[in-house]
Amino acid sequence: TDSRVTPVAYNKELNDLGQVQNYTMDKVQGLIHSQQDFVSDVSHELRTPVAIVKGHLELLNRWGKDDPEVLEDSITSSLSEIRRMETLVNEMLVLTRAENLTVDAQPEETEVTPILERVYHDLQMVHPDFSWTLDNALDSSAMVGVRSDHLEQLLIILIDNALKYSTSRKEIHLALALAGGWVEIGVQDFGQGIAAEDLDRVFDRFYRVDKARVHQTGGNGLGLSIVKKMVAAYGGQVQVESALGSGSVFRLRFPLIKEENNQ
Ligand code: ADP
Repeated sequence: TDSRVTPVAYNKELNDLGQVQNYTMDKVQGLIHSQQDFVSDVSHELRTPVAIVKGHLELLNRWGKDDPEVLEDSITSSLSEIRRMETLVNEMLVLTRAENLTVDAQPEETEVTPILERVYHDLQMVHPDFSWTLDNALDSSAMVGVRSDHLEQLLIILIDNALKYSTSRKEIHLALALAGGWVEIGVQDFGQGIAAEDLDRVFDRFYRVDKARVHQTGGNGLGLSIVKKMVAAYGGQVQVESALGSGSVFRLRFPLIKEENNQ
Protein backbone atom coordinates (compact mmCIF):
# COMPACT_ATOMS: atom_id res chain seq x y z
CA THR A 1 0.00 0.00 0.00
CA ASP A 2 0.97 3.59 -0.60
CA SER A 3 2.02 5.27 2.64
CA ARG A 4 0.85 8.67 1.41
CA VAL A 5 -2.73 7.52 1.55
CA THR A 6 -2.56 6.14 5.02
CA PRO A 7 -6.14 6.07 6.29
CA VAL A 8 -5.27 8.07 9.43
CA ALA A 9 -6.34 11.45 8.06
CA TYR A 10 -9.52 9.98 6.69
CA ASN A 11 -10.40 7.91 9.69
CA LYS A 12 -13.03 10.39 10.76
CA GLU A 13 -14.85 10.37 7.45
CA LEU A 14 -14.57 6.64 7.13
CA ASN A 15 -15.84 6.27 10.65
CA ASP A 16 -18.77 8.48 9.77
CA LEU A 17 -19.50 6.16 6.90
CA GLY A 18 -19.28 3.28 9.33
CA GLN A 19 -16.73 1.68 7.08
CA VAL A 20 -13.51 2.03 8.99
CA GLN A 21 -13.14 -1.73 9.25
CA ASN A 22 -13.21 -2.53 5.60
CA TYR A 23 -12.30 0.53 3.63
CA THR A 24 -11.01 -0.07 0.19
CA MET A 25 -8.43 1.85 -1.78
CA ASP A 26 -11.26 3.13 -3.98
CA LYS A 27 -13.02 4.72 -1.06
CA VAL A 28 -9.86 6.35 0.24
CA GLN A 29 -9.08 7.60 -3.24
CA GLY A 30 -12.64 8.92 -3.56
CA LEU A 31 -12.29 10.92 -0.35
CA ILE A 32 -8.96 12.32 -1.48
CA HIS A 33 -10.53 13.38 -4.76
CA SER A 34 -13.43 15.11 -3.07
CA GLN A 35 -10.94 16.99 -0.86
CA GLN A 36 -8.98 17.98 -3.96
CA ASP A 37 -12.18 19.14 -5.66
CA PHE A 38 -13.02 21.24 -2.63
CA VAL A 39 -9.60 22.91 -2.58
CA SER A 40 -9.79 23.54 -6.30
CA ASP A 41 -13.35 24.99 -6.07
CA VAL A 42 -12.31 27.27 -3.23
CA SER A 43 -9.16 28.48 -5.03
CA HIS A 44 -11.25 29.21 -8.08
CA GLU A 45 -13.79 31.21 -6.06
CA LEU A 46 -11.10 33.24 -4.32
CA ARG A 47 -9.12 33.98 -7.46
CA THR A 48 -11.45 36.68 -8.81
CA PRO A 49 -11.77 38.84 -5.67
CA VAL A 50 -8.02 38.52 -5.02
CA ALA A 51 -7.28 39.64 -8.60
CA ILE A 52 -9.64 42.61 -8.27
CA VAL A 53 -8.10 43.82 -5.02
CA LYS A 54 -4.60 43.35 -6.44
CA GLY A 55 -5.56 45.36 -9.54
CA HIS A 56 -6.84 48.22 -7.43
CA LEU A 57 -3.77 48.27 -5.21
CA GLU A 58 -1.53 48.37 -8.28
CA LEU A 59 -3.59 51.22 -9.65
CA LEU A 60 -3.28 53.10 -6.38
CA ASN A 61 0.42 52.42 -6.18
CA ARG A 62 1.02 53.99 -9.60
CA TRP A 63 -1.36 56.95 -9.78
CA GLY A 64 -4.06 56.71 -7.22
CA LYS A 65 -2.34 58.46 -4.35
CA ASP A 66 -2.63 61.83 -6.07
CA ASP A 67 -6.02 61.27 -7.66
CA PRO A 68 -8.86 61.44 -5.12
CA GLU A 69 -11.31 59.87 -7.56
CA VAL A 70 -9.15 56.79 -8.21
CA LEU A 71 -8.40 56.60 -4.52
CA GLU A 72 -12.07 56.66 -3.56
CA ASP A 73 -13.10 54.18 -6.26
CA SER A 74 -10.31 51.71 -5.51
CA ILE A 75 -10.94 51.74 -1.80
CA THR A 76 -14.68 51.19 -2.24
CA SER A 77 -14.19 48.35 -4.73
CA SER A 78 -11.48 46.67 -2.68
CA LEU A 79 -13.56 46.83 0.47
CA SER A 80 -16.52 45.27 -1.26
CA GLU A 81 -14.37 42.43 -2.63
CA ILE A 82 -12.82 41.87 0.77
CA ARG A 83 -16.27 41.67 2.32
CA ARG A 84 -17.22 39.08 -0.29
CA MET A 85 -14.14 37.04 0.61
CA GLU A 86 -14.97 37.34 4.27
CA THR A 87 -18.49 36.00 3.68
CA LEU A 88 -17.12 33.23 1.53
CA VAL A 89 -14.60 32.12 4.14
CA ASN A 90 -17.23 32.22 6.88
CA GLU A 91 -19.68 30.18 4.83
CA MET A 92 -17.01 27.65 3.94
CA LEU A 93 -16.46 27.15 7.65
CA VAL A 94 -20.19 26.62 8.12
CA LEU A 95 -20.21 24.12 5.25
CA THR A 96 -17.25 22.20 6.67
CA ARG A 97 -18.97 22.04 10.04
CA ALA A 98 -22.18 20.84 8.39
CA GLU A 99 -20.20 18.14 6.59
CA ASN A 100 -18.64 16.94 9.80
CA LEU A 101 -21.84 17.21 11.79
CA THR A 102 -22.66 14.07 13.67
CA VAL A 103 -25.86 14.05 15.62
CA ASP A 104 -25.61 12.76 19.16
CA ALA A 105 -27.41 9.60 20.14
CA GLN A 106 -29.72 11.87 22.12
CA PRO A 107 -30.27 14.88 19.90
CA GLU A 108 -31.65 18.16 21.16
CA GLU A 109 -35.44 18.28 20.97
CA THR A 110 -36.74 21.43 19.40
CA GLU A 111 -40.28 22.68 19.03
CA VAL A 112 -40.66 23.88 15.47
CA THR A 113 -43.50 26.43 15.74
CA PRO A 114 -41.78 29.03 17.99
CA ILE A 115 -38.61 28.97 15.85
CA LEU A 116 -40.56 29.41 12.64
CA GLU A 117 -42.65 32.19 14.15
CA ARG A 118 -39.62 34.04 15.42
CA VAL A 119 -37.78 33.85 12.10
CA TYR A 120 -41.00 34.91 10.35
CA HIS A 121 -41.50 37.97 12.57
CA ASP A 122 -37.85 39.01 12.46
CA LEU A 123 -37.56 38.80 8.70
CA GLN A 124 -40.92 40.44 8.16
CA MET A 125 -39.64 43.40 10.12
CA VAL A 126 -36.48 43.64 8.05
CA HIS A 127 -38.37 43.25 4.73
CA PRO A 128 -41.66 45.14 5.04
CA ASP A 129 -41.76 45.60 1.26
CA PHE A 130 -42.66 41.90 0.98
CA SER A 131 -46.04 40.45 1.77
CA TRP A 132 -45.71 37.53 4.15
CA THR A 133 -47.95 34.65 5.20
CA LEU A 134 -47.40 31.87 7.70
CA ASP A 135 -49.68 28.88 7.43
CA ASN A 136 -49.32 26.69 10.49
CA ALA A 137 -51.43 23.58 10.07
CA LEU A 138 -50.36 22.11 13.41
CA ASP A 139 -52.67 22.25 16.40
CA SER A 140 -50.07 20.70 18.63
CA SER A 141 -46.43 21.33 19.30
CA ALA A 142 -44.35 19.20 17.02
CA MET A 143 -40.83 18.39 18.14
CA VAL A 144 -37.90 17.49 15.92
CA GLY A 145 -34.46 16.21 16.87
CA VAL A 146 -32.62 19.21 15.45
CA ARG A 147 -30.59 21.79 17.32
CA SER A 148 -32.63 25.00 17.45
CA ASP A 149 -29.84 27.23 16.10
CA HIS A 150 -29.38 24.83 13.19
CA LEU A 151 -33.09 24.86 12.41
CA GLU A 152 -33.03 28.63 12.47
CA GLN A 153 -29.99 28.74 10.22
CA LEU A 154 -31.68 26.46 7.68
CA LEU A 155 -34.81 28.61 7.60
CA ILE A 156 -32.82 31.79 7.21
CA ILE A 157 -30.84 30.44 4.25
CA LEU A 158 -34.04 29.38 2.45
CA ILE A 159 -35.95 32.58 3.22
CA ASP A 160 -32.95 34.69 2.32
CA ASN A 161 -32.85 33.02 -1.09
CA ALA A 162 -36.59 33.47 -1.53
CA LEU A 163 -36.11 37.19 -0.89
CA LYS A 164 -33.00 37.43 -3.07
CA TYR A 165 -34.56 35.77 -6.10
CA SER A 166 -37.94 37.53 -5.95
CA THR A 167 -37.69 40.56 -8.13
CA SER A 168 -41.18 41.27 -9.41
CA ARG A 169 -43.73 39.65 -7.08
CA LYS A 170 -42.54 40.22 -3.54
CA GLU A 171 -44.38 37.56 -1.64
CA ILE A 172 -43.19 34.84 0.73
CA HIS A 173 -45.35 32.01 2.02
CA LEU A 174 -44.20 29.87 4.91
CA ALA A 175 -46.04 26.71 5.84
CA LEU A 176 -45.76 24.13 8.57
CA ALA A 177 -47.51 20.78 8.38
CA LEU A 178 -47.31 17.14 9.38
CA ALA A 179 -46.91 14.66 6.55
CA GLY A 180 -46.82 11.04 7.66
CA GLY A 181 -44.16 10.86 10.34
CA TRP A 182 -42.50 14.01 9.10
CA VAL A 183 -42.65 17.64 10.08
CA GLU A 184 -42.61 19.65 6.90
CA ILE A 185 -41.63 23.30 6.55
CA GLY A 186 -42.27 24.98 3.21
CA VAL A 187 -40.66 28.20 2.01
CA GLN A 188 -42.36 29.49 -1.11
CA ASP A 189 -41.61 32.47 -3.30
CA PHE A 190 -43.11 33.79 -6.51
CA GLY A 191 -39.89 35.07 -7.98
CA GLN A 192 -37.70 34.11 -10.88
CA GLY A 193 -37.84 30.35 -10.35
CA ILE A 194 -35.29 27.77 -11.49
CA ALA A 195 -35.16 26.03 -14.87
CA ALA A 196 -35.59 22.25 -14.86
CA GLU A 197 -32.02 21.67 -16.04
CA ASP A 198 -30.59 23.59 -13.08
CA LEU A 199 -32.85 22.12 -10.45
CA ASP A 200 -30.66 19.13 -9.61
CA ARG A 201 -27.55 21.23 -9.37
CA VAL A 202 -28.64 24.06 -7.07
CA PHE A 203 -27.60 21.98 -4.04
CA ASP A 204 -24.03 21.59 -5.37
CA ARG A 205 -21.46 23.75 -3.69
CA PHE A 206 -20.63 26.96 -5.56
CA TYR A 207 -23.38 26.29 -8.10
CA ARG A 208 -25.22 29.43 -9.18
CA VAL A 209 -27.75 29.50 -11.96
CA ASP A 210 -26.81 33.00 -13.03
CA LYS A 211 -23.09 33.38 -12.56
CA ALA A 212 -23.01 36.84 -14.12
CA ARG A 213 -25.33 38.41 -11.57
CA VAL A 214 -23.39 37.34 -8.54
CA HIS A 215 -22.37 40.90 -7.77
CA GLN A 216 -25.99 42.02 -7.62
CA THR A 217 -27.36 39.22 -5.47
CA GLY A 218 -24.15 38.73 -3.51
CA GLY A 219 -24.53 34.96 -3.37
CA ASN A 220 -21.63 32.57 -3.54
CA GLY A 221 -23.45 29.32 -4.17
CA LEU A 222 -22.86 27.81 -0.74
CA GLY A 223 -26.20 28.31 1.00
CA LEU A 224 -28.07 25.34 -0.42
CA SER A 225 -25.10 22.99 -0.09
CA ILE A 226 -25.03 23.89 3.62
CA VAL A 227 -28.77 23.15 3.81
CA LYS A 228 -28.33 19.79 2.10
CA LYS A 229 -25.47 18.63 4.34
CA MET A 230 -27.10 19.83 7.53
CA VAL A 231 -30.49 18.30 6.75
CA ALA A 232 -28.86 14.98 5.84
CA ALA A 233 -26.95 14.92 9.13
CA TYR A 234 -30.30 15.05 10.94
CA GLY A 235 -31.88 12.32 8.84
CA GLY A 236 -34.10 14.87 7.13
CA GLN A 237 -34.85 15.73 3.53
CA VAL A 238 -34.89 18.84 1.42
CA GLN A 239 -36.80 19.11 -1.83
CA VAL A 240 -37.44 21.83 -4.34
CA GLU A 241 -40.17 22.42 -6.87
CA SER A 242 -39.81 25.32 -9.20
CA ALA A 243 -40.97 26.80 -12.47
CA LEU A 244 -39.03 29.42 -14.35
CA GLY A 245 -40.73 32.78 -14.04
CA SER A 246 -43.31 31.76 -11.46
CA GLY A 247 -41.37 30.86 -8.34
CA SER A 248 -40.05 28.09 -6.16
CA VAL A 249 -40.95 26.14 -3.08
CA PHE A 250 -38.31 24.52 -0.91
CA ARG A 251 -39.50 21.91 1.60
CA LEU A 252 -37.57 20.79 4.65
CA ARG A 253 -38.66 17.56 6.32
CA PHE A 254 -37.54 16.14 9.62
CA PRO A 255 -38.76 13.05 11.43
CA LEU A 256 -41.39 13.96 14.01
CA ILE A 257 -40.10 12.79 17.37
CA LYS A 258 -42.89 13.97 19.64
CA GLU A 259 -46.20 15.75 19.50
CA GLU A 260 -47.74 17.40 22.52
CA ASN A 261 -51.20 18.84 22.77
CA ASN A 262 -51.25 22.50 23.61
CA GLN A 263 -54.51 22.24 25.53
P1 ADP B 1 -26.42 31.66 -3.50
O1 ADP B 1 -25.54 32.16 -2.44
O2 ADP B 1 -25.90 31.90 -4.90
O3 ADP B 1 -27.84 32.08 -3.33
P2 ADP B 1 -27.32 28.96 -2.91
O4 ADP B 1 -26.52 27.72 -2.74
O5 ADP B 1 -28.15 29.39 -1.78
O6 ADP B 1 -26.29 30.09 -3.33
O7 ADP B 1 -28.23 28.79 -4.19
C1 ADP B 1 -27.66 28.28 -5.40
C2 ADP B 1 -28.37 28.85 -6.61
O8 ADP B 1 -29.71 28.35 -6.67
C3 ADP B 1 -28.52 30.37 -6.58
O9 ADP B 1 -27.40 31.03 -7.10
C4 ADP B 1 -29.75 30.58 -7.45
O10 ADP B 1 -29.38 30.58 -8.80
C5 ADP B 1 -30.59 29.33 -7.18
N1 ADP B 1 -31.67 29.58 -6.17
C6 ADP B 1 -31.63 29.27 -4.85
N2 ADP B 1 -32.78 29.61 -4.24
C7 ADP B 1 -33.58 30.13 -5.21
C8 ADP B 1 -34.90 30.68 -5.22
N3 ADP B 1 -35.66 30.74 -4.12
N4 ADP B 1 -35.39 31.12 -6.41
C9 ADP B 1 -34.63 31.07 -7.53
N5 ADP B 1 -33.39 30.58 -7.59
C10 ADP B 1 -32.85 30.11 -6.44
